[in-house]
Amino acid sequence: MDGAEKQIEPAIGGNVTFDPLAAALPVDEPAIREALDCDTGEFVDVKAWIGGQRYEELIAQRVSIRERLSKNPRFRCSLCSVPVYLVANQFKHFFFRHITEDGSCPAETRSPLSRDEILARKYDGVRESEPHKRIKALIMRSLSADPSFSEILSERQWRSSHDERSRRQPDVQATRPMGRTAFEVQLSTTFLDVVAGRRSFYRQEDALLVWVMGKFDPDYRRLTTDDLLFTNNSNILVVDEETATLSEAVRRFHVRCHFRRPAREGDRLTDRWESRVIPFSELTCEKESQRCWYFDYDRQASAIRAEIDKELQERERATLDALRSELLSFWLSRKPNAAPDKNEVRAWTALREALSERGVSLPSSPDEDSGFIALMNGVASAKEGKPVGWNFKHLVEVAHRIADGYPQHVVAFGHAARLFKRDEMLAEQDRTGKWKRRSAAIGASLRNGQPDFAPDPASILLVDFLMPGTKAKLEKINLAYVPAVSSVVTAS
Ligand SMILES: [Zn+2]
Repeated sequence: MDGAEKQIEPAIGGNVTFDPLAAALPVDEPAIREALDCDTGEFVDVKAWIGGQRYEELIAQRVSIRERLSKNPRFRCSLCSVPVYLVANQFKHFFFRHITEDGSCPAETRSPLSRDEILARKYDGVRESEPHKRIKALIMRSLSADPSFSEILSERQWRSSHDERSRRQPDVQATRPMGRTAFEVQLSTTFLDVVAGRRSFYRQEDALLVWVMGKFDPDYRRLTTDDLLFTNNSNILVVDEETATLSEAVRRFHVRCHFRRPAREGDRLTDRWESRVIPFSELTCEKESQRCWYFDYDRQASAIRAEIDKELQERERATLDALRSELLSFWLSRKPNAAPDKNEVRAWTALREALSERGVSLPSSPDEDSGFIALMNGVASAKEGKPVGWNFKHLVEVAHRIADGYPQHVVAFGHAARLFKRDEMLAEQDRTGKWKRRSAAIGASLRNGQPDFAPDPASILLVDFLMPGTKAKLEKINLAYVPAVSSVVTAS
């Protein structure tokens, strides 16, 4: 300490004069790069902290840091937790120095530490900060007031019951009717790796780890807070002066729980923050997932999501139903051998666009593609129970026409006949039994995987739109005939 004074005195008395209003300057390469601010529990980047203040401010800070050094230090080294104080070199460039330098700090000796070691040291260091001590004391007060908690210990080792060498030192531990529970104070600087490591330790112990914060502001959250929040069913537990006082007054441990309440806004899920002070015994504690929550955000949010999905599906189904009857009535009113008039063109374009958005393509004009016309005629005829689009008398003539000229649509026609219950009508009209023999042959051909009557793959989505639920059946037939085709190819 004296050495530092000697070092700085000549500098202040020397030639380097500093504008008191200018920004203070750090040394270029400080040995201690990061310090724990014990007042806030935050780690500060030393160069940024020094450079962020005016020279006059920093000098004032320097004095108070020095005054507090031995009793209640403001800053500690992030790697060894030894209190540090602010000194300057002969150019009035500032840096931190340990209160005692015995060569044990990796920052001074430049001994390399792994990322895990640095994290563990920093995490241990946080325990020395004022907010951490204060929140820990509030938890101790709250638990001690509640007779359902026993064996309340602060900063004591918890040895693994499975592995002698494995141990943790929770901030506070206690036993309650549901078993042993560890309480860890979560400051904004708690690290995810540390969090994850602890969860599995306490799960193995068949115990529960409860994270407690000193305060929580939903509008100002760090990623490390979110790591806890979203693994805890969107609940955050806070113990503060008010809850501790309440716990003591009613002799029951209370916490302040912040949680998200999901809501529906149109077709979107939104949520808003709420908070409530509640007895700890009313929380749902889950050892397997290491969760401890008051409001079941996950369940309520997924219920709302399911409700939105269901409505969207119903709406889509209603839209498809409307489009389907529009297309069929268009087809019924259409004059088969005349070019479409202006109104028909407009109606067709609108239908075509609406279906195209749903992956179903219609030809650019209703009279453009004879295969498409045959398919539509077949389905519309089956629906009406009489020929549509062709000058026939009986439905069975439609069946033969399709089988003769459009074998790729005969399966679709078969589905339509079944869907609109026309099998009996077809049988009645089939006086000679020709259709009966023919449909048996078509069935055999399909069962043998022959390609003759396989559905046109390009029409499957349209057929499924006209008769929902047929897609899988048509695709199955196509899959069956593909190997048959390839076997012909390989045989030749
Ligand atoms: Zn150090």
